[in-house]
Amino acid sequence: MRIETLTCPVCRTVVAANVLESNRVMKCPGNGCESVLRFEDLPEAVQDHYVENRTDYRVE
Ligand SMILES: [Zn+2]
Repeated sequence: MRIETLTCPVCRTVVAANVLESNRVMKCPGNGCESVLRFEDLPEAVQDHYVENRTDYRVE
């Protein structure tokens, strides 16, 4: 199972792609950071992988 991540361009907080897949759009979890992170910000191949395999990455 691959673990892809997205790094916030503002504060460098790393967010797991499966978390983004379940939220789609989320405020950066970085402390005091107002940046908004989107699943669509991930490379297209990564998005496809997570959509196709979403049950493997279910967030408990
Ligand atoms: Zn941030």
